[in-house]
Amino acid sequence: MPYSTDSIPFVDFTVQHQPIQAKLEQAVQAVIQTGDYVLGQALSEFEGAFAQACGTRYGVGVASGTDAIALGLQACGIGVGDEVLLPANAFVATLIGVLRSGATPVFVDCDPRTALIDLMAAEKAITARTRAIIPVHLYGQMVSPRKLLDLASTYDLFIFEDATQAHLAEREGYRAGSIGIAAAFSFYPSKNLGAWGDGGMLVTREEIIAQTLRSLRNYGATRKYFHTDLGTNSRLDTIQAAVLQAKLPHLYDWNCDRNRIAQQYDALLQPLANHGIVPIANDCGAGHVYHLYVIRVTETSPIERTMLQSALSEVGIETGLHYPIPCHLQPAFHHLGYQAGDFPHAEVLSQDVLSLPMYPGLTDEQVQRVAHAVRSIVEAELAPFYLPETTSQASLIST
Ligand SMILES: *Cc1c(COP(=O)(O)O)cnc(C)c1O
Repeated sequence: MPYSTDSIPFVDFTVQHQPIQAKLEQAVQAVIQTGDYVLGQALSEFEGAFAQACGTRYGVGVASGTDAIALGLQACGIGVGDEVLLPANAFVATLIGVLRSGATPVFVDCDPRTALIDLMAAEKAITARTRAIIPVHLYGQMVSPRKLLDLASTYDLFIFEDATQAHLAEREGYRAGSIGIAAAFSFYPSKNLGAWGDGGMLVTREEIIAQTLRSLRNYGATRKYFHTDLGTNSRLDTIQAAVLQAKLPHLYDWNCDRNRIAQQYDALLQPLANHGIVPIANDCGAGHVYHLYVIRVTETSPIERTMLQSALSEVGIETGLHYPIPCHLQPAFHHLGYQAGDFPHAEVLSQDVLSLPMYPGLTDEQVQRVAHAVRSIVEAELAPFYLPETTSQASLIST
């Protein structure tokens, strides 16, 4: 098969933007013409539209996903003296958000199959001071809403979703962002819905939380020059909101494309399962929005993860690691008192995971090239014990 030799980037926004470029530029132009740069009309329109798309009521745009977590927790009344459960293998921004709210982060290990927070381990970590759990819908797969709601009602906890990787994901009839008291989204450019810069949003069904956050993002002012809270300056720019609003109608199709690509990878990489290379399991079915497509290069694999990664890079295939060091082992958070060995699954995953190229518009041919490259690199390591498919049964017996 004549494979193209062009390199394959890890993400490529141009394929996504090109067909709607004119529409996006018009949206930006419209804001420039009105001069409505901060807290403008396009922002409130997008807040309403995005909240509705998530199956909830209110959206409050902020400057980043990290701020949506930090200020969102504050708006929910979670802070000093409260313990918040979160997975040890998430992105560090989730942890930073919790610390900025003043609450005490309590790490929980993950399920090694799905890389999602292990809810049985979470239950064991609950104390009298636990106020909330932050399920991170990691890689685009939701944590089970049913199990979360059971746990939260048994122990009277708030569910605060980190949905920064899971725009429009679905599971058990719930959309990401509609399970708990509130949910944080990020519009960092590479997220499933990405701005032309930074951005974030908190969605919630509680009017009071939305109102509080509107004040917090605007210097804590409930009306001009009247400050009731220690707020900050964290707004989603009107220009970014206009870009996001123009992209929103395409998000569902982009997510479907990601899901299709993931299924192709799954099928093409299936033969490597016997050699210790397995994708992160999908328990979320068609509702998984595959922000990332992650495989595990486990201990039984004939090749080390770093070797596979550099061999792929040599043939022009860019990959990523999400994430190479778990939160509890990051030097900045040493003072939290955790150590190596505390969360064995998160620690092993950090050594194993490898993210393959994933973005809407990745072609069948590109997916095949990536999978083919992974297979040939791994299979080459199996020699001389491994017999390629072309070796006949007869020659096998005669040797
Ligand atoms: C991207 C991300 C964030 C932070 O979002 P920013 O907009 O980059 O601040 C938080 N948590 C997770 C899991 C993320 O992937």
